[in-house]
Amino acid sequence: MSAGFGKVELRDIRAVARDDLIGCPHCGRLHRIRLPAPGRRAECSRCGAVLFRRGRGGLHHALPMAITGALLLLLVAANPLMAVHIQGNDRTSLVTTGIEALAGQGMWPLSLLVGLLVLAAPFARVMAVIAVLLRVHRGRRPGRPRETARLFAWTETLRPWAMLDVFLLGLLVGYSRLKGFANAEVLAGGIALGGYVVARTAMDLMLDHRAVWQAIDHVPATDEPPPARWVSCGVCHRIHGCDHGPAPERCTRCHSRLHAREPESLERTTALVAAGIILYIPANLLPVMTVVNFGQGAPSTILSGVHELAEVGLWPLALLVFVASVAVPVLKLAGLGWFILSARRGSPSLLHARTRLYRIIDAIGRWSNIDVFMIAILTALVQFGAVASVRADPGAVAFAAVVILTMMASHVFDPRVMWDRAEENPRLPAIPDRHPGRPN
Ligand SMILES: [Zn+2]
Ligand SMILES: [Zn+2]
Repeated sequence: MSAGFGKVELRDIRAVARDDLIGCPHCGRLHRIRLPAPGRRAECSRCGAVLFRRGRGGLHHALPMAITGALLLLLVAANPLMAVHIQGNDRTSLVTTGIEALAGQGMWPLSLLVGLLVLAAPFARVMAVIAVLLRVHRGRRPGRPRETARLFAWTETLRPWAMLDVFLLGLLVGYSRLKGFANAEVLAGGIALGGYVVARTAMDLMLDHRAVWQAIDHVPATDEPPPARWVSCGVCHRIHGCDHGPAPERCTRCHSRLHAREPESLERTTALVAAGIILYIPANLLPVMTVVNFGQGAPSTILSGVHELAEVGLWPLALLVFVASVAVPVLKLAGLGWFILSARRGSPSLLHARTRLYRIIDAIGRWSNIDVFMIAILTALVQFGAVASVRADPGAVAFAAVVILTMMASHVFDPRVMWDRAEENPRLPAIPDRHPGRPN
């Protein structure tokens, strides 16, 4: 029982929990849920945010994909990703070889980060998804709903941090760079990695999050009017009405801590963005990697790496790395800076555009890790003594820190604060809806 409710019985707490309503996570508008067709999504009528997506084929279709993903993940971990042949010498590399090589060069923060993002997080997430889906198979209510809810909430938290899809692109970029001076080939682990990314994407498209939460715990729809005051759970999106008292401290379904808005969102985002801007300077000025080939070679920065790819005619890859490693971090830092300043001023101008830009920044941030993973792969593969070697340099640590800080900043930033502050601004007219005709 939650402390905030005093002597209220548990059934009364369930009575204020509403699963027929959903609050927009980006502008804060409350909507009554209308189910879209399978595979389609429900959008906010005010800001266009995706409120939820209805999975295809119900709960049991995501399970085979999750099991396939887990099996492929075992193959990825156990088989070499790539082989390099230089001057009659061969070398192959597992995912773990890169992690060990970075640690061996004293780059342990980078080694730890790569291990967490490409091994620990993907494994933990896919196993937790399988465990949850086995428990709610065919819409059954699980025997231990609280534990299942915690596990599913955890899979949601892990989702952006499980980065084998980004790692696959890093492998592609690393392979293309190697082709310039060595004979490289992708091996079974690399092919399994491609298969895993396909299976995981299919799993995420089929996984109906709302259906899983409903199977875990569901309050039937009522004819009651929507509450005037409410708090939406940031993880499972259950609405907790608080017209007749304070909201519970924790969500009555997934037990995550409830907050009307992300606490100290603007302050925490400001601190993370400031740290990101400071580290962006060494990330671009310091070398991230040194490639030595027959005694020749100089440390290369992020930008000179892009230049090298362009020089050997790999324009699409050069463009990809430029966008992911140079343009995206700048867009993230500038965009978040703009959101913070406009929220502080309570400005209503370009509110819809700002919210859309926030969605883009939040979605693409993780792809900036391509270069970090490429460095881990090359460091593991190219160790041929005097003939050829690759070393990670301190700029890579600064760069990885910028990527992680900006990801955390966009996670901590609550875009609803921009809408709240603009609405609270007494000098301004009401904010128009994006689709004024649509019912809520
Ligand atoms: Zn909205
Ligand atoms: Zn919840």
